[in-house]
Amino acid sequence: MFFGGKSETEAPAAAAPKYTHVKIHPQVDNGIPPEKPGFAGGTLKCKCTDSPVVVEVAAQTAHNHVCGCTKCWKPEGAVFAQIAVVARDKVTVKENADKLGIVDTGAAIQRHACRDCGTHMVGRIENTGHPFHGLDFVHTELSDRTGWAAPTFAAFVSSIIESGVDPARMGDIRGRLTELGLTPYDCLSPPLMDVIATHVAKTSGKQG
Ligand SMILES: [Zn+2]
Ligand SMILES: [Zn+2]
Repeated sequence: MFFGGKSETEAPAAAAPKYTHVKIHPQVDNGIPPEKPGFAGGTLKCKCTDSPVVVEVAAQTAHNHVCGCTKCWKPEGAVFAQIAVVARDKVTVKENADKLGIVDTGAAIQRHACRDCGTHMVGRIENTGHPFHGLDFVHTELSDRTGWAAPTFAAFVSSIIESGVDPARMGDIRGRLTELGLTPYDCLSPPLMDVIATHVAKTSGKQG
């Protein structure tokens, strides 16, 4: 039997990407660079050409993702941020620490940003009762090395509307994220939501 002139034994062509015109973040728009096995970290630099803040991240990162929330730092023109976590004892400010200031001291994640260029260098949680205490949030795009953990999902996608993105574009944006393999969620990914819920349940005694 034939359908549309093609033999049914012919392998179906892989669906061509439909949403390549939709820009998400410079680190994912042209394909996601693969992470390198055994990758052990690198240094992050802010955008200042003069006396940049330099932060050493001495380990591979985890849970890298693109984030649509209104708090994460985004590079110029990007709709999403890209952000990952790493153990806080692996993060050291090496140069120009005096240029860092906390963006919002009332926020759970204290984002330390360069006062001159605005780049967020490290997000740290000081509340020891927070589910993610012990992990720092970093933007590995600030490193010139390749091999960092690749982003695997998209968090807080609906929140980009709060940053001014036309709600009518959400179908295309979710389409592009899905095409890139970055499953769109309107909170964090299910494994991270489970970490938070487990922490809450242990605190309340519902889980041992
Ligand atoms: Zn700077
Ligand atoms: Zn975010």
